[in-house]
Amino acid sequence: MMFKQESLAWHCSYQIGGVTHFFTAPNTYDEVIAVLQQCKAKGLHYFIFGLGSNVLFPDDLRNDQAFISLKKLAYWKNRTTNWFVSSGVPMSMLAIAGLLYNITDFELTYLLPGSLGAGIYMNAKYNQFQISDIIDRVYYIDLDRDNLFIQSISVSQCQFGYKKSIFQNHNWLILGADMKVIPSGDKDNELQMVLRRWLNLQDQSNLWTFYEFFAQELHLLAEKGIIIPDTLKSIERYRNSKSHFKYPSSGSIFKNNYDFGTPIGALVDQLNLKGLTHGGAMISPHHGNIIINMNRASAHDVEYLMQVIMNEIYKNFGFVPELEVVQT
Ligand SMILES: Cc1cc2nc3c(=O)[nH]c(=O)nc-3n(C[C@H](O)[C@H](O)[C@H](O)COP(=O)(O)OP(=O)(O)OC[C@H]3O[C@@H](n4cnc5c(N)ncnc54)[C@H](O)[C@@H]3O)c2cc1C
Repeated sequence: MMFKQESLAWHCSYQIGGVTHFFTAPNTYDEVIAVLQQCKAKGLHYFIFGLGSNVLFPDDLRNDQAFISLKKLAYWKNRTTNWFVSSGVPMSMLAIAGLLYNITDFELTYLLPGSLGAGIYMNAKYNQFQISDIIDRVYYIDLDRDNLFIQSISVSQCQFGYKKSIFQNHNWLILGADMKVIPSGDKDNELQMVLRRWLNLQDQSNLWTFYEFFAQELHLLAEKGIIIPDTLKSIERYRNSKSHFKYPSSGSIFKNNYDFGTPIGALVDQLNLKGLTHGGAMISPHHGNIIINMNRASAHDVEYLMQVIMNEIYKNFGFVPELEVVQT
């Protein structure tokens, strides 16, 4: 598996990031191991990520850092007793599986950007539902060990909380997870076909491509007579009303501070900061906790607005909001 020169802007939903000489997207476990060994041999630091929907890559990159996207490590094993889903599978595929197999627990993932591996890392959520509700066991590699091998951990040991997991405190690469549900019926061919169509897309990290793909898959299932639940329709309405897919962004910039009580977006609104621009970036007029890339924004433009929000919230409400977006 070779590294190649690539603009990171192509591999994240922000469409921001400089050019690296060391980008790769392995699609098998053996390739992942080979890439990690190459990094070691070349003395490269590395950043492991998925679809890049929660990262802000820098404009200028160090030349000793590799970027390893697991978005092509996407397969779904239909075992007789459970499902294993690998980390590169987009979370929204679970919603499609939910429709095919009539599993309502997977609805939270519909149009939730990003891959399952990162969803586990972040404990991604929609309303009160979280990824930790639907998985049973996580498989990972401890990258700090000399010999790299697969280990597993049960969901109860993963220290899941609001946007928190044990994986944020360790140098562990998540390979995938067993799902909690025990599937009945056989729709595996249909599921695998959707996954293949997804893998054939060129620009999977682009939010509009992501949205169109899953909205279209839903439409195709409806045409085949599958009833689309109201929950999925309301998720689509909600995300469109907040313009989630219209402009490049990373979704929420800050985690909500539940000790304070009011969501960060509402505080930004109270401070009249919505619509504020800097360079090509803007605090979304539709959601105060999202900074959008309006027009060829740089990472610096986004960082400037992040700092404005942090300063103003500290001045007016007495705390500094915690970043949700990951910077490398
Ligand atoms: C428009 C929009 C709306 C969003 N709405 C929501 C929402 O409603 N709820 C929510 O929770 N989030 C939301 N997000 C954020 C995003 O969907 C989640 O954080 C998602 O988990 C990111 O997945 P990803 O594959 O893109 O992760 P990336 O951005 O690629 O990576 C995020 C982090 O996970 C780590 N990581 C990724 N894969 C692995 C792995 N296999 N092993 C170890 N570490 C890994 C990376 O190192 C990085 O620190 C939204 C984002 C956007 C752009």
